[in-house]
Amino acid sequence: MKFIDFDLNPAIQQAVSDAGFKEPSPVQKEAIPLVLDGHDIIAQAQTGTGKTAAFGLPMLSQMKADGSVEGLIIVPTRELAMQVSDEIFRFGKSSNLRTATVYGGTPYRQQLERIKQASVVVATPGRLQDLLMSKRIKIDPKFVVLDEADEMLDMGFLDEIKNIFTFLPKDRQTLMFSATMPKAIRKLAEQILKEPKTVSITKSESTNTAINQLYYVVQDRERDDALVRLIDYKNPTKCIVFCRMKKEVDRLVSHLTSQGFKVSGLHGDMEQKQREVTIKGFKRGDVDIFVATDVAARGLDVNDVSHVFNYHIPFDSESYVHRIGRTGRAGKSGEAITLVTPNELRTIKKIEKDVGTKMTTEVIPTRQELIDTKGDELLMKISQTEVTSKAIDMVKTLQHDLDIVTIAHLLASMIQEENSFSGKDKIGFDLSEIKKLLEKAYTDRGNSGRNRGRNRSNSSSRRRNGSSDRNRSRNDSNRSRDNNRSRSRD
Ligand code: ADP
Ligand code: MG
Repeated sequence: MKFIDFDLNPAIQQAVSDAGFKEPSPVQKEAIPLVLDGHDIIAQAQTGTGKTAAFGLPMLSQMKADGSVEGLIIVPTRELAMQVSDEIFRFGKSSNLRTATVYGGTPYRQQLERIKQASVVVATPGRLQDLLMSKRIKIDPKFVVLDEADEMLDMGFLDEIKNIFTFLPKDRQTLMFSATMPKAIRKLAEQILKEPKTVSITKSESTNTAINQLYYVVQDRERDDALVRLIDYKNPTKCIVFCRMKKEVDRLVSHLTSQGFKVSGLHGDMEQKQREVTIKGFKRGDVDIFVATDVAARGLDVNDVSHVFNYHIPFDSESYVHRIGRTGRAGKSGEAITLVTPNELRTIKKIEKDVGTKMTTEVIPTRQELIDTKGDELLMKISQTEVTSKAIDMVKTLQHDLDIVTIAHLLASMIQEENSFSGKDKIGFDLSEIKKLLEKAYTDRGNSGRNRGRNRSNSSSRRRNGSSDRNRSRNDSNRSRDNNRSRSRD
């Protein structure tokens, strides 16, 4: 099936081909005809599977560009609002469909001006509710989309959403998209959708098979070393390291920076401007490693993220799905790597069951293995490098004083020096140990499998000198505080 087979208008077809989309993704194949036929839909598909175009294209294709707001897209965060706006703008610009992006923390005036001229409004719930309730705007959209609905409920936006719908016309087409489908979502769907068609991309299709999912079993205090070793070994083009708390983001940013990586951090406490600058820098490639909390990195669509690292295993399976969905996007392959302690192996089992995929365990390469691998890579690189005239001149100069073998040895040593790696030789458990631990995790049901608060790494407390128990319990509640914060600023 091709995009041509859909009944989309020519301008939208052109925009699709300009975007370089060749084939519709599974969720697009199912959703686009239903939306064109006027149905309400509730659609579940993994992150990174093209949900934006699945609702965006059929919606834009039916718009008149008459200067009124014809479509409203509600998304959980500002970053997503900007991202979805960009994509919608791209598809709609040749049809003169303007887009307004509406979120908190910025002045009203400019947003209101843009809404006046927009065909599509992309908004976060907080600011949207605010504009509607204060009667600053009155809109009558024919299409209403709830994007990343599960995230919105997770962030506590249920009341806002219900309230927003009281301001919207009864005669509308409502489209709900979500990566996961917990009960609360179904319930909300019953309230706001009319005879919806369900689009559910089966697990095997929806779990992005382009993502290779690995986990490594380590002692809690080995997390820092393990992370650095794996980054060195995997050589990511770009990667995101997920942490549970803001403090850990700051600490890891300085640790990784001290190891010579180009790193920046993202968490819910940062000012909006600062967040935007940071994300732009990562997209542009100014930094290779992004250290982030769940909330901060929701829905981020950054091309070429080759690896996602879970410094800690996430709290629940849904977060796991969202985190790993930052890689393997747009048809590229990716790797998701999770560090776990023996105690957390049961959480791995739970995630595998919930998500319906298999995670593979591997052993962290020893320092020697890393050196050998990098040595091989170097040899390969040397043999593939083209000889430059400058190099020839340089060797000629050196030959005045040294014989050719000595010169080669010196040059090789110089390159080798850059290939030094820190950390102890062996990090984490080996396969036979992991096997035993797994057996134990299956049989031993006495202990609780998840110990959220206890996973503070020893090395981190050393570095954090003076971090107290007060900090610790504050960190535990950080996730919900993060949520509240982004929420209150919207
Ligand atoms: P989701 O909302 O499901 O997480 P997005 O809509 O953000 O996914 O899409 C992820 C990426 O894939 C975007 O960069 C988007 O431009 C790209 N994309 C979407 N559909 C296609 C397609 N049919 N072919 C190629 N790339 C696509
Ligand atoms: Mg999306």
